[in-house]
Amino acid sequence: MNVKVLRRNCILCGSKDKKKIFNFTYNFIKNVRKSDPKFKYGWEENTNNWIVSCIQCGCAYVDEIIKGEAFEDSEKKKNNFEEELENFYNPINLVSNLHDINYNQSILINIIKNLKQKKNLKLLDYGSGNSEFSLFKNKYNISEIISYDPLYPNNINDIFKRLKIASKAINKTNDLDNEKFDIIICQSVIEHVSDPNSEISNMKKFLKDDGIIYINNPYMNIKKDLKNLISAKHIKKEDHISCYHIDHINYMMPNIFLKLCKKNDLQLINFWQIFNGTSRNNNFKDTLRTNINSLIHYILNCFGIYYKKQHFFLKLKK
Ligand SMILES: [Zn+2]
Repeated sequence: MNVKVLRRNCILCGSKDKKKIFNFTYNFIKNVRKSDPKFKYGWEENTNNWIVSCIQCGCAYVDEIIKGEAFEDSEKKKNNFEEELENFYNPINLVSNLHDINYNQSILINIIKNLKQKKNLKLLDYGSGNSEFSLFKNKYNISEIISYDPLYPNNINDIFKRLKIASKAINKTNDLDNEKFDIIICQSVIEHVSDPNSEISNMKKFLKDDGIIYINNPYMNIKKDLKNLISAKHIKKEDHISCYHIDHINYMMPNIFLKLCKKNDLQLINFWQIFNGTSRNNNFKDTLRTNINSLIHYILNCFGIYYKKQHFFLKLKK
């Protein structure tokens, strides 16, 4: 098998000192996660890698990222992409995903609330996938949306045009020259990238002085979840420990993630984040619960406690 292994030092402090925490084995991925490690990642039966913990700073991350040939089959991915996008923007599917769309709208409203300027906004969707934020372009006076995703095929703008997606797509940030944005959104990305520090510093380059970067960093407390993870026979999507799979390579706790932001001269904006809907059921009870939780987060954050924090609204340190 033609396997590429990317070996990493600590993603926060760069140290090589680490201890092993959890082993992703072929068996775990196939039988517990019900995924196909051979087809999806090109893994052989003896392939495995570890979530490790940095001895110097405590950051948890995967130190060896293993990509087999199957993963490199990007042509296949590109051919599927147009179809996936078409499905996503099919009105019937949009309606059944309304809870996710409402949830994203809440994120955007919360960003705009914190911006000084509210009109003619420029938005960069960093790791944009379906470019969901383009749905809000007219509603919120956004003058320009750039959707950046390194996985986009080169004909992505033809696809966007055909599907009437209100955004310009790019697959390299070099194409941006000196453009600056009021809003940069980075959702479901940071846990996947091989160098989160360089992605954050890249985002910062494109941020206006008064702009806001929003990053969600999922709460994954490996030390607490380890026992459940090791004893799990089958992990379902709705299970709390379903966030542990080999596509996720960075397991930064909130305090670790904030240190990474600080390293890039970004500071947290603390406010009561209001949600108009949740990403799950979108019923009144869930929305109320989410808003009460976000109020508790706001209060805890005032005291420098970042318990289970996942939403990070950041501005340049002045
Ligand atoms: Zn470290």
